[in-house]
Amino acid sequence: MIKSRLKIIPLGGLGEIGKNMMLMEYEDDIIIIDVGLMFPEEEMLGIDLVIPDISYLRERREKIRGIIITHGHEDHTGALPYLLPDLDVPIYSTKLTQGLISVKLKERRRFSEAKLKTVPPSGTVTLGKFKVEFFPVCHSIPDAVGLVIHTPVGIIIHSGDFKIDYTPVSGKPTDLSRLAQLGAQGVLLLLSDSTYAELPGYTPSEKVVGEALDNIMADAPGRVIIATFASLVSRVQQIIDSAAKYQRRVCVVGRSMSDMVRMALELGYLNAPEGILVRIDEVRGIPRDKIVFITTGSQGEPTSALVRIANRDHRQLHILRGDTVVLSASPIPGNEAVIYRTVDNLFKQGAQVLYSKVTPVHVHGHASQEELKLLLNLVKPRFFMPIHGEYRHLAFHAQLAQSVGISKENIFVLEDGDILELNQQTGKITGKVSAGNVYVDGLSVGDIGTVVLRDRKMLSKDGIVMVIIAINRQTGKLIGRPDIVSRGFVDTREARNMIEESRNLVARMLDHGRDHPADWGFISAKVRDVLNKFYYEQTKRRPMILPFMVKV
Ligand SMILES: [Zn+2]
Ligand SMILES: [Zn+2]
Repeated sequence: MIKSRLKIIPLGGLGEIGKNMMLMEYEDDIIIIDVGLMFPEEEMLGIDLVIPDISYLRERREKIRGIIITHGHEDHTGALPYLLPDLDVPIYSTKLTQGLISVKLKERRRFSEAKLKTVPPSGTVTLGKFKVEFFPVCHSIPDAVGLVIHTPVGIIIHSGDFKIDYTPVSGKPTDLSRLAQLGAQGVLLLLSDSTYAELPGYTPSEKVVGEALDNIMADAPGRVIIATFASLVSRVQQIIDSAAKYQRRVCVVGRSMSDMVRMALELGYLNAPEGILVRIDEVRGIPRDKIVFITTGSQGEPTSALVRIANRDHRQLHILRGDTVVLSASPIPGNEAVIYRTVDNLFKQGAQVLYSKVTPVHVHGHASQEELKLLLNLVKPRFFMPIHGEYRHLAFHAQLAQSVGISKENIFVLEDGDILELNQQTGKITGKVSAGNVYVDGLSVGDIGTVVLRDRKMLSKDGIVMVIIAINRQTGKLIGRPDIVSRGFVDTREARNMIEESRNLVARMLDHGRDHPADWGFISAKVRDVLNKFYYEQTKRRPMILPFMVKV
């Protein structure tokens, strides 16, 4: 008789796309699945990255037995460099995933402290009372796995990110026979990828992209420049294969792409025919229709090579008339504006630009509805929990599960921080742990709160007004009228009268209170109040108002 319940707690990735992180807890053992990051939305001004809040784990450090990473995408690995100091446990992954993690850890100088362990794509690790078995899945990156987690209350299957591609470019197809076998044994809970649960039908095979690339390489009159994610190893392979077919040499541009290519070649996940790769300083002399460049920047990342090229800011690579630029990735929601600005700039310079809206230069790596139903049918879980997606994706996936016969009471739609408790017969959501966003801003982690974000938003919209109040050090009396300096608020020449009026307003207010010396906190609040009201009446804007006192 098993008394304890198994707890399943998503710390990220449920109710959002990105920062996937999930923990499972049974008595004195905790395992962590994925430690991802999320790219900031447009209104998160000046924020570089968003990572999960791990306060729940910080309080239970001694219970954590290990971290398992399902694949090398940043929404599953990216928070590791920031959270490793707190999570000092072994990290288990397949070989390529480990390679990608190493590249990122080295960038952040966290490599030496990490305990990275390789597990084969069908290997098993035992972590406390959990026995975790990997199984290969197809995704847009090789060496991706799903997990079979053998727990004291039953078998749990975690799909990772997956699709069912019968003709993958690299790596193995999703191991459907193992899943069917487990289904026959009895599975307690299935956790399955919901990213594309809105899409009917089947996700096309990676093969489609290969054909599109072949056509481009054959037809492009000049150079071809292809931007994709550094982690999309299989796409890079497709580009190399296609280049080889049409006798083009391949030049990898940019540090992160070069680092990844070198690592993947070393580990044997990329194959390049002898002599096909050239350095950028060797390109001169190669005919234009015999060269392909691979670079990052498909998301309009400001420091990427492609964006530099688009802005005529790259040292070695400039757009020439007749170039074809390919964005082989779909825009991450929120990045559209910057991506299309880059596309526009490339067109302006005379390039032909191809992107997924106009040519099938990208297919996504997640299962559509029919594939999701297939997984549900093979596994036949008692309980189901959709993971990885915005709330609507989770809701759609829950409906799919119902449509294949899982009863509504056995489907749990959780959001970040919810606790699902399970035993062999029943499951229920029993509470919530803290699981918000932690913002990474340049080099600092976590001290950017929502207040700072609100301030930045205000500054970007309505500007700032500084009120400088000079006070006599001895008497505490106001000297002259206060000075007002503004930035990004109004045109100070045109609005001179209004600014003058506001100086008088503050002076009158301070004068009024002269007989009752008040403390600075009170005065500054009052100044803020008066000016806020006045400026709003005049301009319908709310600049940030910062009163300063100078004692002279
Ligand atoms: Zn992924
Ligand atoms: Zn993902």
